[in-house]
Amino acid sequence: MSDKSNRKTSITTRVAQALHFIESETGAVVPAIQPAATYARDDAYQIRKPYFYRRDGNQATVHAEAIIAELENATDSLLFASGMSACTAVIEHLPTGAHVVAPRVMYHGVLHQLQTYAANKRITLSYYTAGNIAELAESVASCKPTLVWVETPNNPNWEVTDIAAAAKIAHDAGAKLIADCTATPPNMTRALDLGADFSFHSATKYLNGHSDITAGVLSVRETGPFWDDIILIRKLQGTVLHSYDAWMLIRGMRTLFLRVEKCCKNAMAIAKHFDGHQHVEAVLYPGLPTDPGHEVAKRQTDGQYGGMMSIIVRGTEQTAIDVARFCEVFYPATSLGGVESLIEHRKTVSGEGFPVHPRLLRLSIGIEDADDLIYDLEQALARAVG
Ligand SMILES: *Cc1c(COP(=O)(O)O)cnc(C)c1O
Repeated sequence: MSDKSNRKTSITTRVAQALHFIESETGAVVPAIQPAATYARDDAYQIRKPYFYRRDGNQATVHAEAIIAELENATDSLLFASGMSACTAVIEHLPTGAHVVAPRVMYHGVLHQLQTYAANKRITLSYYTAGNIAELAESVASCKPTLVWVETPNNPNWEVTDIAAAAKIAHDAGAKLIADCTATPPNMTRALDLGADFSFHSATKYLNGHSDITAGVLSVRETGPFWDDIILIRKLQGTVLHSYDAWMLIRGMRTLFLRVEKCCKNAMAIAKHFDGHQHVEAVLYPGLPTDPGHEVAKRQTDGQYGGMMSIIVRGTEQTAIDVARFCEVFYPATSLGGVESLIEHRKTVSGEGFPVHPRLLRLSIGIEDADDLIYDLEQALARAVG
């Protein structure tokens, strides 16, 4: 009989302890970084499993994948060198001519990638308005897709799409559903539990949380030949996450619950403060009870709503750019999900042709003191308005 209790610890405990990591030889409570690109065969000239060559994966990547699989309640998770390379693997695994239904407005990089594949006639693309389930159903009914793409909450307007409803629509039509929930990490939103076939996160964002690596992760409820294809694509394209970055990600994830809780609290305080503000036309944040996505978000994000929001300032496009320029605590930088708050004039970043409000500022709220962030936006707005 083991003298250990059988009590299963909570996910919060397991993530904080990186799955109670103890190195068997030394007792070290933190994994070592193994930078090797190749592994020697044994005396019988056999491969010493499980590692053979860097592109197949490595200790740190596999360990980080195990943590994410627990967070996602997934059968398997796979880490890529960036969010974009994970999304590309999903698109690549589709048969030529496959039909994909995606939001008309979404994270610009993924949309750009889908549109590039469509322009090259690799896939066909149809659209729906983010957050609009009726339009999603119509689009799916008219084109019989292979894959339905949902991003929720959705860049840069933070519309909320009901993942369970989208999964039912996709499955009834024989399609798979991928949910990009980068803005609400899996301690808030578990897309697989809600019916998605793939859960995707840019781990560059909240999962790592410190703006010091790029990484992407795909998780699945059920494996199968499609998943073997994706594993093969990662290997052949060489897009596995580097061991050093995987190690950074493991360290970042230890504080996931703490960081995200603070980001959400700060975001709610900021959204409430600027909702109805004289220099602000609109605050786009699902945490506000008046937000059209509020009720679905409450169910889908464990009542936490996330740290991402946008504000549409009054005045001109230049006023919005000036607010971003005049901030002294917020960094005028792209990306999201880090401990430091970022502000960005989204139109400048996503470029001409991408439909985004010219006076929209995207805010990624970090873990700083909420009053400092509110004061900073107040002074920048006052200066920009003049
Ligand atoms: C950042 C991001 C991506 C792309 O991930 P990278 O890690 O930057 O390659 C995809 N979707 C969303 C919603 C993102 O925020």
